[in-house]
Amino acid sequence: MVKERARILVVGGGYVGMYTALRLQRRLKRELDRGEVEITVVTPDPYMTYQPFLPEAAAGAISPRHVVVPLRRVLDRCRVLIGEATAVDHAKRTATIATLATEEEGTGGQRLPYDELVLAPGSVSRILPVPGLADHGIGFKTVEEAIGLRNHVIEQMDIASSTRDPAIRDAALTFVFVGGGFAGVEALGELEDMARYAARYYHNVQPDDMKWILVEASDRILPEVGEEMGRYAVTELRRRNIDVRLQTRLESCADRVAVLSDGARFPTRTVVWTAGVKPHPVLAATDLPCNGRGRLTCTPELSIEGTTHAWAAGDAAAVPDVTAAEPGRECAPNAQHALRQAKVLADNIVHSLRGEPLQTYEHAYAGSVASLGLHKGVAHVYGRKLKGYPAWFMHRAYHLSRVPTFNRKARVLAEWALAGLFKREIVSLGSLEHPRAEFELAAGGKPSQDPPPKGSS
Ligand SMILES: Cc1cc2nc3c(=O)[nH]c(=O)nc-3n(C[C@H](O)[C@H](O)[C@H](O)COP(=O)(O)OP(=O)(O)OC[C@H]3O[C@@H](n4cnc5c(N)ncnc54)[C@H](O)[C@@H]3O)c2cc1C
Repeated sequence: MVKERARILVVGGGYVGMYTALRLQRRLKRELDRGEVEITVVTPDPYMTYQPFLPEAAAGAISPRHVVVPLRRVLDRCRVLIGEATAVDHAKRTATIATLATEEEGTGGQRLPYDELVLAPGSVSRILPVPGLADHGIGFKTVEEAIGLRNHVIEQMDIASSTRDPAIRDAALTFVFVGGGFAGVEALGELEDMARYAARYYHNVQPDDMKWILVEASDRILPEVGEEMGRYAVTELRRRNIDVRLQTRLESCADRVAVLSDGARFPTRTVVWTAGVKPHPVLAATDLPCNGRGRLTCTPELSIEGTTHAWAAGDAAAVPDVTAAEPGRECAPNAQHALRQAKVLADNIVHSLRGEPLQTYEHAYAGSVASLGLHKGVAHVYGRKLKGYPAWFMHRAYHLSRVPTFNRKARVLAEWALAGLFKREIVSLGSLEHPRAEFELAAGGKPSQDPPPKGSS
């Protein structure tokens, strides 16, 4: 029984948002039935993206709709509002929400009052002022980017196969990835593997005609798996002819030429930017405290410091790591923490509503697994180091156990099983991004290359 009626607003439908709302609707079942509690989830997409599966989606090993979890189905006791929080006035307990209809309505967004706030908008790519990057680069955080990149890579192979101009061919077959963390290394590993396989269906594109380049500013990649396994990952990628350049930065990609700090220049039509993330810019449009790096300052109980009834976790939150030997350390922005924090956060909201004492978030980082392509991987978990096939297998088993809902698990497993029986899919469906092109041409107009605006039908 809660002390007062509570309207809980969850901003974000990712790891933290979805798992928090899921646990709240389970733990507050009776209160929801009695109308004492109301949970609203505001998020731009009607699905949660299981980001660790994006590299496999890019490689075609998992179809895009199985990498996402439909929020309306999973959060059947919550109100799911598709839109973005554009500002939060916590002093007045109100959030401003822009929905898909806001522009047409012309009213400047809905004001949504709440009693408890969960702020979990995650992070966005940290883009540096590199000339040409904003025009030619692509990130790797969303399912749209992963599938767009897959289509793009196959399209480049088609361009290379159909041109007689060596300069166009060279640029089409050069793929530059910047950032040696999870996202960059896994995306490159999976896409290179897929393109190498696809090359067998081209009469004039050989795997060795392609240049795959990984640019990393520090002296190692995959810091999450430790130094030794990071070194192994470099050796494994280089063995596959991938040009790994450590202590190197991208200085420009203007005019479609990637210029690196070591003086190398690569004409290319593909620059994938995965050089880190920063907290979501919406945090700056709130009256809540952020630290120097723009993350919400949180207590170990996951409330936002100096406030009442405001909570945060995940990539957007600076949560003290109470297990660290040195004081002042924050939990790293990763799924391992996000998932566990969501559980404690939901429980603490329930405790707070019932006037019970709060729990402290405490989790020592267990290590990580990363895939480097089909049957290749690297892992460092609970002190155990694995590489090659066993690490790849562990990567799949771990993420299969973690992907939300039994339905998704069964579908992903079925896709892997089928992929083991049949050949890999190598088709590019880039034209899906321009669904009206054919009709416009038939109508006598010039087909527009712009994709339809998000949310339009
Ligand atoms: C390719 C890739 C691979 C990864 N692999 C791993 C891995 O193997 N292991 C691991 O531990 N971590 C991994 N991570 C990191 C992990 O996915 C993130 O740390 C985790 O998603 C953070 O959870 P979150 O809820 O804070 O943010 P997210 O899951 O990003 O969720 C944020 C949500 O908020 C929504 N949102 C944004 N702005 C607004 C707004 N204004 N209003 C309302 N909603 C908003 C977003 O649309 C999104 O739904 C990977 C990340 C990527 C990109």
